[in-house]
Amino acid sequence: MDTHIVIIGAGVVGLAIARELSASHEGVYVAERHHKFGQETSSRNSEVIHSGIYYPPGSLKARLCIEGRHLLYDYCRKHEVLHQQCGKYMVATNEQEAHQLSDILQRARTNGVESGTFVEAETLRQEEPHINAVKALYFNTSGIVDSHGLMKQLETDAVVRGTMMAYGSQIHNIRKIDGGYELEIFDEGGLFQFTAQKVINAAGLGAWEVARMVGLNDPAYQQHFWKGQYWAIGNGKHKMVNHLIYPVPQTKLTGLGIHATIDLNGGLKIGPDAVYLENGKLDYGVDPASKSAFYHSARKFLPFLQWDDLHPDQAGIRPKLQKPGDPVKDFIIREESRKGLPGFINLVGIESPGLTASLAIGKYVAHLLDGRKD
Ligand SMILES: Cc1cc2nc3c(=O)[nH]c(=O)nc-3n(C[C@H](O)[C@H](O)[C@H](O)COP(=O)(O)OP(=O)(O)OC[C@H]3O[C@@H](n4cnc5c(N)ncnc54)[C@H](O)[C@@H]3O)c2cc1C
Repeated sequence: MDTHIVIIGAGVVGLAIARELSASHEGVYVAERHHKFGQETSSRNSEVIHSGIYYPPGSLKARLCIEGRHLLYDYCRKHEVLHQQCGKYMVATNEQEAHQLSDILQRARTNGVESGTFVEAETLRQEEPHINAVKALYFNTSGIVDSHGLMKQLETDAVVRGTMMAYGSQIHNIRKIDGGYELEIFDEGGLFQFTAQKVINAAGLGAWEVARMVGLNDPAYQQHFWKGQYWAIGNGKHKMVNHLIYPVPQTKLTGLGIHATIDLNGGLKIGPDAVYLENGKLDYGVDPASKSAFYHSARKFLPFLQWDDLHPDQAGIRPKLQKPGDPVKDFIIREESRKGLPGFINLVGIESPGLTASLAIGKYVAHLLDGRKD
């Protein structure tokens, strides 16, 4: 075999896995189709360190989010990755929403979220004088992180521990062979074959395609693309919000609802929405026609917002396992021995909170790879 382990994808998840595995394994190799890390979803998101409130209790999303959050804060502190534990308010703008806050806090507690306190409107006004709310929940465990800085540090750690990064390397096909896998890779030199004992599919938006390359046509792995657009708030109004501000989530939500996110450069943006990309094309444009929906959603809790304050920002694409109307689905992270593919690990549907959970996902994959069950 040419190498021991190939990880497909150098987003935050592939890099976190590479860092983790290279601590205990030799011959770790990361194949990434772009010429740098983090050119897709990992650099097109809200950069929020989530508390772990929303996810179904017992799900991988809930568990890995909370574990990942602790690991991430420790990692950022240790390696001086820019971050801020700024806290988040979930704001109810009417009595009906205020009633939902108790259930949300209950779910957060069931998930093991340590923070979460009720805040009355008057107290909120002292902290956030420009926000409209009748009541709120405050989570001091939420924060923001510089995703680029995080990925740079993860890449550095992985390389120092012996990982080889192969940028500009697109995986075209994968074949099961005796004792491992043969990968067909396309790089600037053309097409070549490379063999590995183990393969980790951390290909993000390309993960279903990669799973199919090795013959896994399981419909449960089919990813559906949902675009999330952002609008930036200008005209000096970025200074009017000091925390992350989220609405009370609607039921059957495909995202967390349009929220206000501060960033580490002092900017303020609203988003993301959730637009189903029926044709599966990676379209990163921000539709000018979406402005009205953003304006009206955000005005409920940001009453100072004027039409001209909003400017199109960026968009990212979530690889979800659900189509419109389907129930919320969990991450799938699976070692595929049962399907006749020992040492092949698929990660599909790694949408939010994948950034928060990345370090915990790295550990989880290491356990699967080494056959540990905890
Ligand atoms: C709008 C939006 C907002 C979000 N907000 C948050 C948030 O605030 N907090 C949070 O925790 N999470 C958030 N997320 C989720 C988070 O961004 C993702 O879960 C995370 O970035 C996924 O990382 P990844 O490494 O799996 O995927 P990616 O970053 O997409 O990396 C996968 C890599 O695989 C490569 N690849 C694919 N196919 C191949 C192939 N055939 N050969 C070689 N390379 C290949 C790609 O080029 C890519 O670089 C958000 C996501 C979106 C879209």
